[in-house]
Amino acid sequence: MATVQTLAMIDSHCHLAAEEMLSDQDAVIARAVAAGVERMVCIGDTIEESERGLRLAEKNDHIFCTVGVHPHQSKHFDLSTLSRIKSLVSSSKKVKAIGEIGLDYHYDFSPREAQTAAFRAQLALAKELNMPAVIHCREAVEDVWAIVDEIKPPNLVIHCCTEKWSDVERFVKKGYLLSFTGIATYPKSEDIRDTIKHCPLEQMMVETDAPYLAPVPHRGKRNEPAFVVHVAMCVAETKGISLQEVDEATSRNAVEFFSLR
Ligand SMILES: [Zn+2]
Ligand SMILES: [Zn+2]
Repeated sequence: MATVQTLAMIDSHCHLAAEEMLSDQDAVIARAVAAGVERMVCIGDTIEESERGLRLAEKNDHIFCTVGVHPHQSKHFDLSTLSRIKSLVSSSKKVKAIGEIGLDYHYDFSPREAQTAAFRAQLALAKELNMPAVIHCREAVEDVWAIVDEIKPPNLVIHCCTEKWSDVERFVKKGYLLSFTGIATYPKSEDIRDTIKHCPLEQMMVETDAPYLAPVPHRGKRNEPAFVVHVAMCVAETKGISLQEVDEATSRNAVEFFSLR
């Protein structure tokens, strides 16, 4: 059994630039590195958070970033937002994807027409720039699929995948990736573990989505990238393979997906 010390993990999705992380960001990053998390992809939910993430990535070799507007924030999205995203992408080599973008019909914090417009525009931008997209999909898999199938972006990941295999199999068949969080470790998440069983190791990544969704045994606490090993352990147990194998595959996938070399 591999120990944590021998791993070189990647947290493929964390919100290091979220408000909840700002007070002790340096300590959070130091704990992650000490726990064997070599690289972290800092995700943007708003233009402001994307800018903070980019500044963080610029001064830290362990950190890369994405820029984009989350479906919750879509009501504030317009053409000037799109040009802000474009200029952030061209301002730094540390920007590795457009995201997170998508549709969230569970919370419906933005009207669905606004969500659809923002998702469509940002996914088309990912295609135009030949960049991968980080997709947030909650109770909206049919509409997400319809837009993906229409735009056909070069690559994408369904992050924090909570979908049934029958709903996401089509994304995997197209060569896209699924990424799993601490939700997979919760006792009631049988459907997610079934999706993990079906998803080829070559097409999955692991993530924390910190500060949200801490995995067992940290459930209920603020999440942080150091905890990503618990997601990898859950994948290993679910697939009946070693932690080392999961780490090697998911890290390789993340390096390739985000061009982290
Ligand atoms: Zn999300
Ligand atoms: Zn997220």
